[in-house]
Amino acid sequence: MRIGAIEAGGTKFVCGIGNEYGEIEDRISFPTEYPEQVLEQVISYFREKNPEAIGIGTFGPIDINRKSATFGNVTTTPKPGWSGFPFLNTLKREFDVPFGWDTDVNAAAYGEAVWGAAKGLDSCVYFTIGTGIGVGVYAEGKLVHGLVHPEGGHILPRRHPEDRFEGNCPFHGDCLEGMASGPAIEKRWGMKGSELGENHSAWDIEAYYLGQAVTTAILMLSPKRVILGGGVMHQKQLLPMIRAEVSKNLNGYVSAEQLLTGINEYIVLPGLGDNAGLCGSLALGLAALELK
Ligand code: ADP
Ligand code: ZN
Repeated sequence: MRIGAIEAGGTKFVCGIGNEYGEIEDRISFPTEYPEQVLEQVISYFREKNPEAIGIGTFGPIDINRKSATFGNVTTTPKPGWSGFPFLNTLKREFDVPFGWDTDVNAAAYGEAVWGAAKGLDSCVYFTIGTGIGVGVYAEGKLVHGLVHPEGGHILPRRHPEDRFEGNCPFHGDCLEGMASGPAIEKRWGMKGSELGENHSAWDIEAYYLGQAVTTAILMLSPKRVILGGGVMHQKQLLPMIRAEVSKNLNGYVSAEQLLTGINEYIVLPGLGDNAGLCGSLALGLAALELK
C-alpha cells in the first residue's frame, strides 16, 4: 500500500509515503511558511507519489467537526496566513482519495496505539513538549474530539514555590505551555534547554509542572499508558523525575499495578521515537482508507 502522511508542524512540514506496517518509505520536509506556498509543495510531492489515501496530523487549533461549514480549516492560530485557511479542502480539490484529518497530537497518540508504545491498548494519552505543549487523547479505541478537541497544553498548573517566571503563553500567561514549553524554559533561564546542564534546577521545575499535567491526565482520563514526546524530552534525566513527581502526587490513591509498581513501563517515551508524528498521520490515512 502507498499511504500519504502529512505532519504539519508550526515550524516545519513533513510529508511522507508509508505502508500498512507503519514503515515510512520516503519523506520530504520544508519550513511552514505562508499556506499557499506550503500547500503547493505538498501537492507537487503527492502528485508524483500517487498515494491511495492521505492522513494529516496538524498544528491547530483546527476544525474537526464534520458537520461544520469550516471543517478542515485551521482556526485561531497566530501563524501568519493560516487562521481560517481551508487546509483540508485545498488538498481534497487536488486528490480524489480518502483523507484522515486530526490534530498533530491526536495523530501521534493514534500512531503510538497502532504501532508504538501503546500497541495493543485501547487507550493512551500523548504529550508533546516542544515549541508548544499539546495533548492527544485516545480512549476506548477512539481519538477524543468532544466539543472542539482537547487542548491539554493550556491547563493551569499549581506554581512551583521557587518559580518567579510570569509565563509566556499569549492567551494565559502561566498555563502549562506558558511555564514548561521549550521557549518558556529558554525565556526563564536566558538560554536554550539543550544548553542547561542535566543537574540544573530548571529540570526540577520542569518535572514539577509536567508531573502535575500527567497526574491530571491520569485522574481525568485513566489512560492505559502515558507517552511523553517532543524536543524537551530529549533531556534524558527528565522522564524519571516526572515519574517520581506523578508517584508523589498520586500518593498511592489510584489502585493500579501500573501506577504502584509499574510506572517505568506506564509513563514512557514514544515507541516510534521522532517518527511518532509522521507515523501517526500515516495511521490516520490508513484508517481513512479502511473506512471508505
Ligand atoms: P516542534 O515542537 O516545533 O515540533 P520539537 O518537539 O523539536 O519541535 O521542540 C522544539 C523545542 O524543544 C525547542 O524549544 C527546543 O529548545 C526544545 N529542545 C529541543 N531539543 C532539546 C533538548 N535536547 N533539551 C531541551 N530542550 C530541547
Ligand atoms: Zn495557554
